[in-house]
Amino acid sequence: MKYVLVCGAGGFIGHHLVARLKAEGCWVRGVDLKRPEFSSSVADDFVLADLRDPQSAWACLDRRFDEVYQLAADMGGAGYVFSGDNDAEIMRNSALINLNVLEACRQSGAGRVFFSSSACIYPQFNQDDPDRPECAEHTAYPAAPDSEYGWEKLFAERLYLAHARNHGMICRIARYHNIFGPEGAWQGGREKAPAALCRKVAQAVDGGSIELWGDGRQTRSFLFIDECLEGTLRLMRSDCEQPVNIGSEEMIAIDALALLIARIAGKRLSLKHIPGPTGVRGRNSDNRLIRERLGWMPTASLEAGLVPTYRWIAAQLAPPGGIEPPIRP
Ligand code: NAD
Repeated sequence: MKYVLVCGAGGFIGHHLVARLKAEGCWVRGVDLKRPEFSSSVADDFVLADLRDPQSAWACLDRRFDEVYQLAADMGGAGYVFSGDNDAEIMRNSALINLNVLEACRQSGAGRVFFSSSACIYPQFNQDDPDRPECAEHTAYPAAPDSEYGWEKLFAERLYLAHARNHGMICRIARYHNIFGPEGAWQGGREKAPAALCRKVAQAVDGGSIELWGDGRQTRSFLFIDECLEGTLRLMRSDCEQPVNIGSEEMIAIDALALLIARIAGKRLSLKHIPGPTGVRGRNSDNRLIRERLGWMPTASLEAGLVPTYRWIAAQLAPPGGIEPPIRP
C-alpha cells in the first residue's frame, strides 16, 4: 500500500487528485484549511490544518509518506493575483507553507515530493506578443515574472531544487498552465477565465451580451483537470529532476474562448470589453520538454473539457429542482 499526503486537498486540483489516488488504491491523507466546497473528500484521513504553522505541518507529516503532493497555496484568478492588493499576503502565506512542508518532508523522510509551480514564473517580456508567447522551460531566466505570485513560485521552485541537491530529496516540479474543470472556483473573485466566462454565459439571456476584462485579444491555453492529474502522476513517478510545463498547447484568445462557450451553451451573445486586470498579453504551454522527458503530453481538445465544465457551472446556477439549461452536443 502506498501512503500519500495531499496538501491543498480542499482545493480544486487537490480534491480531484485525492480521488484519483484513491482510485489507484493508495492510502491518502488530505490536509487543508478547509474541506472541499462542492463534494466530500474521499481521503482516508482529512486534516484541517494551517500549513503556515510549522507545528501543524509536522503533525500532518507524523509518519513517512511515499508521496507528498504540495499544492497548498494562497492563489486565485486574475482579480486576486494581479490587482496588487494581495501581494504581501500571497508571498508570505505561500512561502511559509512551502518552507514548512518541505522541512517536515525532509525530517520525516518522505519518498517523493511534488510541487505545483505555475506558468506565472515566466518573464513578462516573453509574453508581450499575444500570437507568439515564449514559455519553454529554459526561458524562465533571467527572471521577470509579472506578479508576486509568480516570484514566490520561482523562489519555491529553487527551494525544492536546493533540497534535492543538498539533502538528496526526490522533488518533482510542474509548471501548471491554467487548469480548469468541474468543482473549481466559479464565483467570488478567485475564479479563472474559463469558469468566469462559463458563469457569465450561463447567466446571460440568448441574444444578450457579456462583459470581458481587457480587449479580449489576450491569449491563453487551458488544460482540463483530468489531463493535469495524468501529467502530475507521470511526472511524480518519473526521473525528471527539472521543472516542466503541464499545460495545453491549444492557445486561444479570450474573445474566442467566450464565443466557444456561448456556442456550447447554444446562445448568441455579443462581447463587451471593460477595464480589468488581465495579466500578460499572451501565454501558451510549450510541451517539447514534457514530451521528450515523459514520452507523454496532453492531447484533449479545449472544447472537450469545456462541455462538462459549462454543464457543471450552469447546474450550480440552476434553481434546486429546476430545469438545467440545454447544452449543444
Ligand atoms: P485552490 O486555491 O483551489 O487550492 C489551494 C488550496 O490550498 C486551497 O484549498 C486552500 O485552502 C489551501 N491553502 C491555502 N493556504 C493554506 C494553508 N495555510 N494551510 C493549508 N492549506 C492552505 O487552487 P488549485 O487551483 O487547486 O491549485 C493548486 C496548486 O496549483 C496551487 O499551488 C496553485 O498555485 C497551483 N497552480 C494552479 C493553477 C490553476 O490553473 N489552477 C495554475 C498554476 C499553478
